Amino acid sequence: MKREDCIFCKLANGEIPANTIYEDEDFRVILDANPASEGHALILPKEHYANIYELDDTVASKVFPLARKLACVMTKTLGCDGFNILQNNGEVAGQTVFHFHMHLIPRYKKAPNNQGFLLWKERGLSPEEIGTICEKLTRQMQ
Ligand code: AMP
Ligand code: ZN
Repeated sequence: MKREDCIFCKLANGEIPANTIYEDEDFRVILDANPASEGHALILPKEHYANIYELDDTVASKVFPLARKLACVMTKTLGCDGFNILQNNGEVAGQTVFHFHMHLIPRYKKAPNNQGFLLWKERGLSPEEIGTICEKLTRQMQ
């Protein structure tokens, strides 16, 4: 389903022009309008899923092979030195557009904004606390 009020639905389906670098039946890949680096791109499914919790399994199974292919081609073409793949879910996690998307962010050794880029502070959990979380999650995955 597409949503009338969703800008990424419109971009993914070609209703609003975008800098498209790849398109197939399921996805459009565009350059981010406010890029974190040269070549920062977004994989957008053509159907609307607000986030990873809603994402269809078949679509999900196609996202990473596509991300891998793009990372290889973009690295070769742009000459970047590394690559981040990022996907935010929920406001607290930094999501600002509520249509599932995957960020492809080429990284350059010589970029001026490398300091602190995509870093988080360590939470400082004890081995016991980590163990408790591990048990809780393992139980649910069985
Ligand atoms: P997120 O914070 O993970 O939801 O990422 C949203 C991303 O979409 C940001 O990097 C924005 O710069 C980008 N963005 C928002 N609107 C547009 C647009 N019209 N065209 C291209 N990128 C966009
Ligand atoms: Zn949408």
